Amino acid sequence: MKEQIYTIPLNESFDSGDECPFCFLERNVERSAINYAVGPEASYMESDVRGLTNEQGFCTHHMKSLYDYGNSLGSALILQSYYKLLMDDFRDQLEHFDQPAKRGLFSKSKQNSDDTTPPLVKWSRRRQSTCYVCGKIESNMQRYYETFFMMSKTEDFRRKVESSKGFCMRHFGELVASAQSNLPNGQREWFYQTVFSLMKDNMDRVKADLDDFVGMFDYHQQNTIMPANTRDALSRSMQKLKGLHPADPPFKGK
Ligand SMILES: [Zn+2]
Ligand SMILES: [Zn+2]
Repeated sequence: MKEQIYTIPLNESFDSGDECPFCFLERNVERSAINYAVGPEASYMESDVRGLTNEQGFCTHHMKSLYDYGNSLGSALILQSYYKLLMDDFRDQLEHFDQPAKRGLFSKSKQNSDDTTPPLVKWSRRRQSTCYVCGKIESNMQRYYETFFMMSKTEDFRRKVESSKGFCMRHFGELVASAQSNLPNGQREWFYQTVFSLMKDNMDRVKADLDDFVGMFDYHQQNTIMPANTRDALSRSMQKLKGLHPADPPFKGK
């Protein structure tokens, strides 16, 4: 069944006990996209993958992931062909660059309006705004949200959601956005009630863990044993706010 590609990982993510099942999924999608781009299958040698990495490049974060992964030759080959195309385009942009007119005293307000932005700047911003790995994450995560709502029709899955730890703020926002077009009519009441109270309760829980963690530095408590809920309170509270696993070591190829 084709949909199992999404339902199985979604079930796994809710069984994982992660502070946000979508963070769990996103980490897996991210790793498999990096692995696919530069890993042992050498997809970077295939013209369709190369076409995508040439066109989209990598954001700052994922450029570092390429470096960390450890396949230096693979990364160098990807960048070599990215550079080649970039430089053709770049030369063209430089050649057609019109120096903006000298700014007058009262022209400040116009400075950032779209029609006064030089094409070179627009081009540069566009090139900086795309990323092969982010693109993969984006399209897969949309499918996971759709699958979440499809699965919300089953009692089993609803119970799983109810006993989860909720979501991080970033994925919660995206889930609510996806609800607009994907939430089944019969589950409206359930979704907004359950998920909103899950969010409130679990944000409070993590905030309380963070408070306990800070409290441990109080000199009265300095010789007491750190309670379990405080040990990873800092990383979990970062995750709840932004949707990341800050304690993860860099992802490396095998
Ligand atoms: Zn998340
Ligand atoms: Zn990226």
